[in-house]
Amino acid sequence: MPIDATQPYDDDNIFAKILRGEIPSKKVYEDEHALAFHDINPQAPTHILVIPKGRYVSWDDFTAKADDAEIAAFIRAVGKVARDAGLVEPGYRLLANIGPDSHQEVAHLHVHIFAGRKLGPMLA
Ligand code: IMP
Repeated sequence: MPIDATQPYDDDNIFAKILRGEIPSKKVYEDEHALAFHDINPQAPTHILVIPKGRYVSWDDFTAKADDAEIAAFIRAVGKVARDAGLVEPGYRLLANIGPDSHQEVAHLHVHIFAGRKLGPMLA
């Protein structure tokens, strides 16, 4: 179900459980500020999710509340994950859903990385 991006952070969301190691994930990268893992229901041959370790519901919540160092570290981590996965050539797509109209389903900020096929002008 799509979530309200303005709701308070819920520590029971599935990505919080992944961060705490309570449920498994196929991890591809981790540092002080970010964790990246394969999406459980991939929409492209490569479909990786990158999440900050801080408690942020959405991109909106993150960019309003996180400090500049945390935002910079997270954005750098997204770039590194894509680079280390060899996606710069032939290319990849970043996507973040924010709130119900976007169909955000998990109430912890996540950036999708899609790659491995021609993606077309937009994802539906
Ligand atoms: P959203 O629609 O942008 O919120 O995307 C949520 C994504 O999380 C979807 O692509 C799901 O397939 C993915 N997802 C949900 N649960 C898990 C999980 O336990 N591990 C990895 N990915 C998950």
